[in-house]
Amino acid sequence: MNDGYRILEKELLDDFLTMVQIDSHSRDERAMADWLTEELRSLGCTVEEDDAGEKVGGNAGNLRVTLKGNTGAPPLLFSSHMDTVKPGEGIKPVIEDGVVRSSGDTILAADDKSGLAVILQLVRLANAQPDVPRPDLEFSIHICEEIGLLGAKHVDTSGFRATAGFVLDDEIVDRVCVASPGAVRLTYRITGKASHAGLAPEKGINAIMVAADALSRMKIGRIDEESTANVGVIEGGTAANVVTENVSIKAEARSHNVDKLRRQVEHMNACFEEACAEWRKKTGSDLPSWEHEEEEDYHPVKFTLDDYPVKLTIAAGKELGWNMGTFVSGGGTDGSVLTHAGIPCVVLGVGMKDIHSTSEHIAVEDLNKAARLCAAIVTAHANGKVK
Ligand SMILES: [Zn+2]
Repeated sequence: MNDGYRILEKELLDDFLTMVQIDSHSRDERAMADWLTEELRSLGCTVEEDDAGEKVGGNAGNLRVTLKGNTGAPPLLFSSHMDTVKPGEGIKPVIEDGVVRSSGDTILAADDKSGLAVILQLVRLANAQPDVPRPDLEFSIHICEEIGLLGAKHVDTSGFRATAGFVLDDEIVDRVCVASPGAVRLTYRITGKASHAGLAPEKGINAIMVAADALSRMKIGRIDEESTANVGVIEGGTAANVVTENVSIKAEARSHNVDKLRRQVEHMNACFEEACAEWRKKTGSDLPSWEHEEEEDYHPVKFTLDDYPVKLTIAAGKELGWNMGTFVSGGGTDGSVLTHAGIPCVVLGVGMKDIHSTSEHIAVEDLNKAARLCAAIVTAHANGKVK
């Protein structure tokens, strides 16, 4: 007889502290992947590494991990990422008043070693408390999340059997992400005509001025309650005395609605077309011209309270006496990628705070809570109470 897992708090914190001290900047996750592989295998997991690392120019691939269950319940998937942002080398964790911080000149890498620590905890619990009911557990552990969800984009989801999953990569523990936007990355290039700015300005066509014209027509920022757009990088020109021939512009559009996303991208494209057409009329030539590239970055995700991963999370929270909230994310996650690839995955918080900064920190109790929630999800699923 058993009600559920009792979290191994010491092991959870030890795992977390060990992992934050293993450097793993994006594309350099080798040491982290090796450590996890060895640890997970010693705890009875099957671990396979894919070739995503070669495809994205990194030194390690994604890990596909499975652990046999003790019930006939369908498998559940949990996911986290191994890579960190910079500065993440030589991290020295310090614990003060129940909060783990870096010693100040690096990030802490709670994003996303806290997610990894919770995954490891689920495996440790299965070993330490083998009578608690559990399904087969599958773990998709990714590289290069921080540089465009590159690892997740290369995961072969046909290797997993789970039909519901949890991506452990957000801040607040007692809430579940029910929607995230889709995004398109845009690169524009404008070609004008170079000329000496002092001797023959009239022979030139200034690509910077054409870009300014196009951008002044453009709606950016918050477009509506579901959509945003941004122009983030503009580069061009060679010298103050040369009429600028080339300008390149990097921009993005996001929306929770696929049609609105398309419309915004078309609006942005039209601004370049209209500006160039007017300039061509003025110059009487076939310049300036523009070209662009669109890259589907990630797709919008929307869950309802009736979708299984959401329902299961809320039910597991209830078991713990919590009132789980829901939230809408402003960005894409590995969960967006896995969901679009066929495994509905919600994003859960692990307690990390002030991520991507040297003041990043996590409360030990929040990490414990995240592990408790995930353990409760496993048990509630295995017990088959949530349909
Ligand atoms: Zn993260």
